[in-house]
Parts: sequence; structure tokens; C-alpha cells
Amino acid sequence: MSGWIAANFFTLSPRERFLCMLAASAPDIDGAGLLISWDLYQKTHHALGHNIFFGIIAALIFAFCSERKQKMFWLCLGLFNLHVIMDLLGSGELWTISYFWPLSGYELSFEHGWPFYSWQNISAGTLCLAATAAIIYWRKRSPLEFIMPSLDRKIVSFFKADRGKAE
Ligand SMILES: [Zn+2]
Repeated sequence: MSGWIAANFFTLSPRERFLCMLAASAPDIDGAGLLISWDLYQKTHHALGHNIFFGIIAALIFAFCSERKQKMFWLCLGLFNLHVIMDLLGSGELWTISYFWPLSGYELSFEHGWPFYSWQNISAGTLCLAATAAIIYWRKRSPLEFIMPSLDRKIVSFFKADRGKAE
């Protein structure tokens, strides 16, 4: 959700906002190892997709699929780094990030991070939901605008109907 919320601060098309959502979650594609085995997951998660090279390549791909290429490249690279920061803060003390993998085995870690299931993460999640609701209400669009436009319209008019009752 963070990618879509961030995208709403910029002038972008629905497609570009969708790409921002993908950019913000793309690093976690390395969690797919879990489908094969826990062991593989432990080795590859926070390495394959959480290094700066992946971030740059992914930003290039997302920029390539966009109209505003330069703006989208920097925005997607920013979202990649925001993802890394949020992971460092909120995925528990055991996780480190292999930011320079495969060139270097150096691992980022943050000792004051909080566990995955914690009030900080729950508050952050609640804030994201509130921000999403505010954007639906004020900007008249939802995170589904690009993939499910008809459902998006329904959600937006639901919020409008709600506002009608409140006034
Ligand atoms: Zn992650």
C-alpha cells in the first residue's frame, strides 16, 4: 500500500501508480523460496530482492513501462529503499538485509527494530489504511483503479454515499 500512497503525492497515471505499488513490494519476490523450502527461504529472503542492484534493475524496468520515465525511475528507486528501511525497522531482530549482495556479504541490520507482530507495525498498518481511505475520499480513486476499474468506481461511490449520509 505504501507505494500507492506515495504515488498519490505525484502527478502520475493510474498505470504508473500501479507500477509504484509493484515497485514497493517487488523486493519480497525473493520470499518465493518459501514455496520450495524453509531452508531456501532463509537463505534467499532479504538477499535476492533486497539488494541495491535488484532495486536499480527493477526501477529501470518500471520506468521503461511508464510514460514519465525519469520521474518513475527515481520514485521506484526511492520506494525500493523505503521498503528496505521498513524491513529493517519492522521485520524482527533476526532479519538482516544483504544490501550489496552478490558483490559483498555486508549485511544491514538495525538493533532497535521491532518484532513483526508489534504495536508499531499495527499502527503503521492502521495509518496506511487511514491514508488509503483519505485518498479514496478526496482524490476519488482506490488502489484498484488500474487492475479493476469497475470495482474501483464502486468503492469510490460507496465513500461518496457515506459522505452524503454524514452531511
Ligand atoms: Zn521485504
